[in-house]
Amino acid sequence: MKLAHYLVIGSATLLLALFIREFLRHATFQSHCPVCKDDHPDRIKRPSWAKALDFIVPSQRFYCYACGNRFIRVGKGMQ
Ligand SMILES: [Zn+2]
Repeated sequence: MKLAHYLVIGSATLLLALFIREFLRHATFQSHCPVCKDDHPDRIKRPSWAKALDFIVPSQRFYCYACGNRFIRVGKGMQ
């Protein structure tokens, strides 16, 4: 393989890792904050695209006052 191939694969892997890290920061299946584990984040209004996707992926949006993280809880009624 040429050096350019390694560079492409390396940067693609890095981007994927960053994407997964961001996803884990902002999406969770639990009702506590995924960053600081605060148990009482506040529900906030979801953007309209999230409401439109509700029939495929039910979700609720939260804002954590403890650390300022905004995240989406995927699924309904799971504690
Ligand atoms: Zn938090």
